[in-house]
Amino acid sequence: MKQQATLRARAPGVAIAALLAVFGAGLFAMGLDQGHMFSVVEGAAAFDAMYLHELSHDVRHAAGFPCH
Ligand SMILES: [Zn+2]
Repeated sequence: MKQQATLRARAPGVAIAALLAVFGAGLFAMGLDQGHMFSVVEGAAAFDAMYLHELSHDVRHAAGFPCH
């Protein structure tokens, strides 16, 4: 007798939504942030410092994101 097992696994929608949120936040922080994320706690001074921009500067150029 031949047995056949079929597995239908689906990722929960909540997990996919959480991963997409983490991906979006990471993409923004690495590729697009010009001080916006730190301005929440640091205020307008974050736009001058641009810590995340400086941290990910070489990655931005290597990945082709607009930088300066
Ligand atoms: Zn640059």
